[in-house]
Amino acid sequence: MDKRPETLAAQALHRIDPETGAVIAPIHPSTTFARGPDSALIGQHQYRRPQGPGSQHAEDIVSALEGAAASRLFASGLGAASAVFETVAPGAHVVAQSRMYHGTRQLLQRLAERGRIRLTLFDPEAPETLKEAVEPGVTELVWIETPANPVWSVLDIADCASVAHEAGALLAVDGTCAPPCTTRALDLGADLVMHSATKYLNGHSDVLAGVVSTREEDARWQRLSENASLNGATPGAFESWLLIRGLRTLFVRFERQSANAMAIARALEGHPAVSHVLYPGLESHAGHAIAARQMTGGFGGLLSIRLSGGAAAAKKLAATTQVFIQATSIGGVESLIEHRQPIEGPDSPTPDDLVRLSCGIEAEADLVGDLRAALARL
Ligand SMILES: *Cc1c(COP(=O)(O)O)cnc(C)c1O
Repeated sequence: MDKRPETLAAQALHRIDPETGAVIAPIHPSTTFARGPDSALIGQHQYRRPQGPGSQHAEDIVSALEGAAASRLFASGLGAASAVFETVAPGAHVVAQSRMYHGTRQLLQRLAERGRIRLTLFDPEAPETLKEAVEPGVTELVWIETPANPVWSVLDIADCASVAHEAGALLAVDGTCAPPCTTRALDLGADLVMHSATKYLNGHSDVLAGVVSTREEDARWQRLSENASLNGATPGAFESWLLIRGLRTLFVRFERQSANAMAIARALEGHPAVSHVLYPGLESHAGHAIAARQMTGGFGGLLSIRLSGGAAAAKKLAATTQVFIQATSIGGVESLIEHRQPIEGPDSPTPDDLVRLSCGIEAEADLVGDLRAALARL
């Protein structure tokens, strides 16, 4: 029977442990796997750095949700992104957007400074600049993130794939903020999709992990897969197990987080202390039409607001909420608030009056009430 993604996720692919009948996957901390009298491996695994049963199970779930040929799990999201960047030729031309997750931007900039890649940035708020940034026949990789952390610019994945492919380049998407329950980047033409599994995929702020999925098991994928093992940035058995547990509730978490974020966005739009509400779910958002097409399972729990009172108001708001917890990161079941620019550092393009909200699954009235009360105290 062809099962829908919600079913595959909830049942972690319906894998019953053949030895015990356990419905829930066991944790296999073993780093090594035995051979039988004929010296053949008893199971499918030899040593856990290349792959263990837990990481393989998590990879299989992500592949099923993404419609991917294969996936590889890493010890963090940036570990996964690094593995993609490592597949390009020395000095290769890479195009990425100027506003995106600051860690990836820094990583790409360091690679460019060291001469490992040649980097051209385009403005995601003006997507037509991607066409000018790619060099036909030269560019090897286009890297996009949508919606992009923390202003939530939305890029049309299918359009970016056409531009990249026409130039002979590959399109890789950081889909952390649009997990496969809402956007399947490979279906839209991307060649690779990467997630910080630390965020929505796990969803409980207790696992650091990353994953890359591919449309085709081509030579680049073999390289990436081999590098995963040789560089050694692979996840632990317990992390893999927790990730499997988290993935089972991805769809319901994301639905509730999307509903909470939408309620907050609507409640704060037009509030006198708030100059902008940045949320792809709002009709007022520049990327709304694309997001409405591309994010079929909801707009997610992430939004940002800019304060009329500037940086001081942003700092105070983040410090005075009582339900939203002042902490970095996104995608967990608990709501987090952060005055973003100081976290990104002095070269950050993020406005200093911006507060990022990651909505969890708490009661909508508590979240809206908390923000209203904190805004009233500014
Ligand atoms: C957090 C994040 C990353 C990095 O993931 P880690 O798991 O922290 O290494 C990459 N991209 C986006 C969009 C993120 O939010």
